[in-house]
Amino acid sequence: MFKRRNISISLTLTLVLLLTISLGAIAAEKLTIMATTDMHQYLMPYDYMANEPNEEVGFSKTYTKIKEIRSESENTLLVDNGDFIQGSLLGLHEYQIDPLEEGETQSIVKAYNMAGFDVSTIGNHELQDYPMDFFEKANAGAKFPIVSGNVVMADNESEYYVDPYVILDKEINGENLKIGVIGFVPPQTMRWGKDNLEGNVVIKDILPKAKELIPEVAKKSDLVVVLSHSGLTSAPKDSYDARENASYYIAQIDGIDAMIMGHHHGEFPGGYKDIENVDSEKGTIFGVPSVMAGSWGSALGVIDLEIEKQNGEWNVISSNVRIEKITKETQSSAEVEAIAKDRHQATIDYVETPIGETEREITSYLARVQDSSVTQIVNKAQMWWAEDVFSSGEYSDLPILSAAAPFQAGREDASYFTEVDSGDMTIGDVTDIYIYDNEIAVMQLNGAQVIQWLERSAENYNQIDPDASGEQELLNPEFSAYNYDVIEGIEYQVDVTKPKGERIVNATYNGDPLTEDMEFLIVTNGYRAGGGGNFKPCVEEDPVYAPSGVTNRGIIIDYIQAKGTVNPTPTYNWSIKPFEPAGTVTFRSHPEVMEYVNEYDIPGIEKLRTDENGMGVYDLDVTN
Ligand code: MN
Ligand code: MG
Repeated sequence: MFKRRNISISLTLTLVLLLTISLGAIAAEKLTIMATTDMHQYLMPYDYMANEPNEEVGFSKTYTKIKEIRSESENTLLVDNGDFIQGSLLGLHEYQIDPLEEGETQSIVKAYNMAGFDVSTIGNHELQDYPMDFFEKANAGAKFPIVSGNVVMADNESEYYVDPYVILDKEINGENLKIGVIGFVPPQTMRWGKDNLEGNVVIKDILPKAKELIPEVAKKSDLVVVLSHSGLTSAPKDSYDARENASYYIAQIDGIDAMIMGHHHGEFPGGYKDIENVDSEKGTIFGVPSVMAGSWGSALGVIDLEIEKQNGEWNVISSNVRIEKITKETQSSAEVEAIAKDRHQATIDYVETPIGETEREITSYLARVQDSSVTQIVNKAQMWWAEDVFSSGEYSDLPILSAAAPFQAGREDASYFTEVDSGDMTIGDVTDIYIYDNEIAVMQLNGAQVIQWLERSAENYNQIDPDASGEQELLNPEFSAYNYDVIEGIEYQVDVTKPKGERIVNATYNGDPLTEDMEFLIVTNGYRAGGGGNFKPCVEEDPVYAPSGVTNRGIIIDYIQAKGTVNPTPTYNWSIKPFEPAGTVTFRSHPEVMEYVNEYDIPGIEKLRTDENGMGVYDLDVTN
């Protein structure tokens, strides 16, 4: 029996108990579902990109929360929601730097085995980044099932790549409880991981598969738990966004008792306010108890279900959903640290490998409002690589452009920025600039398509009303910085007073306006080229060149090593089109932007204040 908090509840429940016993039922029980998501091989409270401890992440801390809950709750289930084997440099180290040996499994899988996970699912990053045998090593080493209901075999679509679902048997107060657990992954993974997946598997759309399989799981089990490696949006059902982030529509399928969400690296309950039928306080979506526990082990998702067996059938009476965030005070568990130890140290040694020097500090502080050193160095390196690759052959006559986004530019919080000091550079610095394990890809597009590409980027901005008085925030908080591609090799302006889709003006190549009859090569990454971020020309066209195994980060490392010393001073080839606002145009960024602004004499930026989230709020002079 679980503990009662106060006497009146206890009396009420005793009455309910007596009544239900007379009806042939047993007492209500509590089942606690604990969920991690998007762990990305963050075993330790450590940020390898910054090469310093981060006390608010790491499975060694999440595991402490898991142990606490287990000590309080008799009946628990521990699930993981995918994206666990890849992402941190420790994961890269196991794949590439000092690869896993035959029969060896990932450190995170060893830690999950130790922790006693009941089940996990396939996230997009289990499959898209590396050849499939990297995931298969995890699947072979895991002592828990890894399920997925929408990954099928390419040569026989009626066969699943891994079990679509599992039925777990739990004994609760002497009674058997069957918990059916099914998982889903965004179908776009197929495009993001085309090189690794095509011809091997097919990833079907989530909703049709969910509608087909969830009733089947429900028939075989007492409770249904969905591992939705998918975010939450109420965008139209058939939109790219909702097909990727399908949780809102999954929740509307009958028979689901609890849903674990992820992929967005967001938090629920708490986040996703103001969506119809989403209760961000209670943690329900169309009444289904649902949780999303951040990323990198930053939180543990907890769903308490009060369940009762009546006339041979288990029913959920009530639910309570919360996320327990990891803090500085949360202990890092020795058991996980022991498993991570050697690989953790080897990863730090790797991160500290020197590769060259930069004359200029590289930060993303201003990357969403003006040309910046962080996108500059990526574009310079990509163009350097492409000029060599395309110096002869079929495409050698085409001008080369390059696209890059500031991946860490303050969307999450004030600590989420690229910060590389001038002076010596290490491999860790390059991962701070280019955080993803993307592979290079090259598109061939005409001038009109290049503008379409930039129009999608320009959704980074809110539409500013030049006649409005007071403050207007320039940056769209819903827009992900990793989709803010800026393109090098052309010049253009962004008119933020115009509605989206009409913002790119004065776009020129060598002084000539960009038109449909100009052709370009544009260097990007496989995520973008595969349609990631929903950039129209990339959704519609395939890359013309995408060599397997060549990563954008590797190209940047090669570039710095080849040059010895780099100086990624922005070229300011793009800018916000000047206008005269009646009020003030503001943007949010790192709280210490002024130090950087003063060091490099950057005009037109003044700090107004620091906001409640610790972000600096700045006045941007848009008049010239
Ligand atoms: Mn993820
Ligand atoms: Mg994901």
